[in-house]
This record gives sequence, C-alpha cells and structure tokens, in this order.
Amino acid sequence: MRFDVYPLDVVVLEDCDEDEVREMFLRLQNGTSLKAQEKRNAYPGKMRDFIKTVAEHQFFQAVGFTNARFTHDLVAAQLVALEIAGGPTNIKNADLNRMYKTHADFDSSCSDARAVLRTLGILSQIFPDKTPELTRYNVVSLYCMVSELLNQYVFSQAHPHIFDWFIDFESTRRLNENRPEDEIAPEWAGYKEKISHSTDSADSIRWRMEFMLRDFLEAYPDTQTKDNQRSFTHVQRLAVFRRDQGHCQLRIKCNGVKLTWDDWHCDHIVPWVNGGKTTVENAHVACSACNLAKGAS
Ligand SMILES: [Zn+2]
Repeated sequence: MRFDVYPLDVVVLEDCDEDEVREMFLRLQNGTSLKAQEKRNAYPGKMRDFIKTVAEHQFFQAVGFTNARFTHDLVAAQLVALEIAGGPTNIKNADLNRMYKTHADFDSSCSDARAVLRTLGILSQIFPDKTPELTRYNVVSLYCMVSELLNQYVFSQAHPHIFDWFIDFESTRRLNENRPEDEIAPEWAGYKEKISHSTDSADSIRWRMEFMLRDFLEAYPDTQTKDNQRSFTHVQRLAVFRRDQGHCQLRIKCNGVKLTWDDWHCDHIVPWVNGGKTTVENAHVACSACNLAKGAS
C-alpha cells in the first residue's frame, strides 16, 4: 500500500545540454550536495581566496567536468587538503569545511601552496588539452600519484610516460567494466568498487593511488627511486610481488617456493652495492633461505 500510494516527483529535462544531463546524473549518483562548495565560497578568509586561485589554474581547462556549481573549486579544495595532509586523507565536505576554518589565515606563499601550484603545473604539461578521462576522482588519484612520483622517484624519467600510461589504464578499465560481472579481473573489480562510492575517503584515495602507481611501475619497470635509495618503496614491492606471483626467483635453496606478503625479500638482482638500481626491473621475489645463500656467495 505504502508503495502504491507513494507520490513520485518526476522532472523531465527538456532543452538542456549534455553537460547539464551529466551534472544531474553525477549529483544523483554521488549523493553529494555541491551546495556545500557554494557555501564555502562565501566563507571569509585566505584559504577561500587561495582555492579560488587554484580553481582558475589552466589545468582545469583540461579536465573532463565543467565548473557547474563550482566543481572546479571543490576539486581545487580537495587537492589543497591532500597537499596539507601530505598524502591521501579524507576530503569530504565536512573535512573541507574544517580546513577553510582552521586555515583561514592560510599563507598563499607557504610551501604547501607552492607545492599545489607546482604539481598542477606539471599536470598541465602532461594534459595540455581537454581530456575527458580526467573525471573528478581521477584528478584526485593522479594528483596523489604525481606527488608520490615527485617525492620518491626520478620524476624526469617518469614524466614523458604518464599521459600514454593513463590513457591505456583508462581503456583497460573500460574494457573490464564492459565485461560480465564474473569475467572482470578481480583487481579491476576491486578498483571499480573504489571508484563507485566513498571516493572522497582516505582509504579509497590511497587504494586508487597505489593501484595506479603499481600499474605504472609495471609498465615502466626501469623507473628509479630518487637518489637511487637502497630500500624499495611499498608500491615497488607491490609491483614485484605481483609480477613474480609471490614465488622465490632465486631457487638456490628452494624450488621456487610460494611466499606470503608478510614473509618475502625484495632482492636487488644486480646488488645495490655493485651499482644495481632500485627499480622494479632490477628486483625479484626471494625467500629468506635463498636470499641468505646469495648474500654469502
Ligand atoms: Zn628460495
């Protein structure tokens, strides 16, 4: 009865353009009220002014979404929040509201502010033209990924490949998305879940960033760590472990035993002390017995 008598409000959109339809779709799908950004734009303080500047950065000319209801301002605020936190963090409306208030006297020449503009400048070089694949969640993931590449890897080496890699990444994602549910590769099913809801949570952002960066390092395994530091990064280890499927590659003491994530060594193929690079290419999975035997020899 309740169902049958429930009055449904139906709004038919006529005479509207593609962007307005998308906008409506996004708002219904995300369940996020973009009005929150409109309210924030009315906040007093220097954080608001700085985010206005960021939203006007030319990179936002390349993104795949319009500035309807200040979506560029919203994403700009999210990027600033990520920079201040030094990596993935919650960037929901409540978090952004808090940031506008606690950083009301934000110094637009501080190191965080400069880092945001620097990273956007780099993204702008990578994506000089309109790129529909640059959805809201992808801009956030890419921002984190580029920041990570800048901090931990030889960025000049990675830079020329990011555009092609990203377009490939997105086409693989679409390919998987169009497959029947039971034929989607498990890792892509996981990724799909992370981009479907709670995309503004720290957990989702970190997962996406690591997933994308691992995919990048698998595609460009010669990407070196900054100053060729000896220890492998977490994401390099993820890429190596996945490529070797967890099996010891040394086979000195074992027969290629399958190891668990908690119990394996990421071994430089050409030893670091002999000038071996800290790259995915120069690393493989080793069990402790084999690793010890190799060290002794
Ligand atoms: Zn072994």
